[in-house]
Amino acid sequence: MIVTRFAPSPTGYMHIGNLRTALYSYLISKHDDGRFILRIEDTDRERLVEGATDIIKSTLRITGLNYDEGPDVGGEHGPYVQSERKDIYMEYAKKLVDMGKAYYCFCSKERLEKLHEEDATGGYDRHCRNLSAEEVKKNLDAGVPFVIRQKMPTDGITTYTDSVFGEISMNNSELQDQILIKADGYPTYNFCHVIDDHLMAVTHVVRGSEYLTSTPKYVLLYDAYGWERPVYVHLPLIMGRNDDGTISKLSKRHGAVSFQDLVADGYLPEAVINYLALLGWCPKNSETEFFTLDELKSVFTIDGVSKSPSVFDYEKLLWFNGEYIHMLPFDAFVDKVTPFIKLDIPADINKDKMLGLLHTRISKLSEINDKMAFFISQPDYTKELFLNKKNKIADFEIVKSVLTEALSVIRNLEAFDNDSLFAALTPIAEKLAIKVGAVMWCIRIAVSGMIATPGGATEIMEVIGKKESIARIEAAIAKLQ
Ligand code: GLU
Repeated sequence: MIVTRFAPSPTGYMHIGNLRTALYSYLISKHDDGRFILRIEDTDRERLVEGATDIIKSTLRITGLNYDEGPDVGGEHGPYVQSERKDIYMEYAKKLVDMGKAYYCFCSKERLEKLHEEDATGGYDRHCRNLSAEEVKKNLDAGVPFVIRQKMPTDGITTYTDSVFGEISMNNSELQDQILIKADGYPTYNFCHVIDDHLMAVTHVVRGSEYLTSTPKYVLLYDAYGWERPVYVHLPLIMGRNDDGTISKLSKRHGAVSFQDLVADGYLPEAVINYLALLGWCPKNSETEFFTLDELKSVFTIDGVSKSPSVFDYEKLLWFNGEYIHMLPFDAFVDKVTPFIKLDIPADINKDKMLGLLHTRISKLSEINDKMAFFISQPDYTKELFLNKKNKIADFEIVKSVLTEALSVIRNLEAFDNDSLFAALTPIAEKLAIKVGAVMWCIRIAVSGMIATPGGATEIMEVIGKKESIARIEAAIAKLQ
């Protein structure tokens, strides 16, 4: 059975790169009905941010990346928060010491600093690697602070094969005797993630490519214990496009980089997930780019993951999001867009009709306010807006005639729905010997004050109601005098 995990450090918001890692990790296990684990890596106590774990959990819940084991869900391999597993790491580190593959290091901070001053790149000189058992015992009994280091091989080559990037090798002579347990008793990431992945029976380690070149160190730990190495799946970097066309690591200056910010800006979680799935992975023989999470589970395979950096394309995400919004059933759209509405909607406005017109015309929910503003209060406009070659409206006289006729029709109209309005207003065309399109053009400009509008003249009037329609047409006629 395939077991994967998502192992974030709770250091703040949920970066979309992290969310992509969670998604790919989830999909790789779920493709084969495997298990997906959430593990919180909080041993770097200085970088912890309060509330960050809740953000991680809520993001996974909202996006549907449900974990089979994890904090608050439980499971047979818990606890799933590393700070609650401190004793386990110490036990395993000591085990490695007993096996002769790790050692206590009592070097003082001053000694290490001096070493560094003498040779900044030389690293630790393995001073404590061969202390006698008596010396170690004496120091431990005396309570001398210590770290535990791994005895790295000093020659030869360590190699592993990454599923995406291929073979990765490192000369052992370049390796430091890495610290497994720090002086504060907490394990290093290098150590505890390996222990956890092994104890949690993780078969596939899926994570960002920043870990690609340090992984030889991690496989040496598996080897030291005699454990089977996991399959490694390192994911390509996510880049952003700079103003000058170059690319660099995705950061805030490229746009929103956290899932929370995207959602707050009116992106739908399903659209973000769909877009992220394609950011570094390509479906095979697929005619569509649209995938629900369930569909992704069945089509996602590791061999579709690319090793070249992926450039985050905000335009494409926006397009995806628009498509997802347009596909929503109307009621669901209303539910989702309502919290974004900041403007007061007057009682005369037919809100459902208005949202109906806007449903297929917005690409993210936060656009709703700009798009609906003209229904609520008409923007100022110049009369030149009425002139239009295509509709053969070359002077203001014709506009004035259309609007005057329209006004008298509308004043006598009882039913004020789109169909009734259209039926009542079209005869003006024949009367003035112009096209229906020209009539509607004039009325639409008068009731909206804009060239491009969601919906036609009669639809807009249905939304704003009779009183407001009359007021706007009267104001237009006054403008033309
Ligand atoms: N806590 C590490 C991170 O957030 C996890 C890396 C890994 O998946 O092993 O980058």
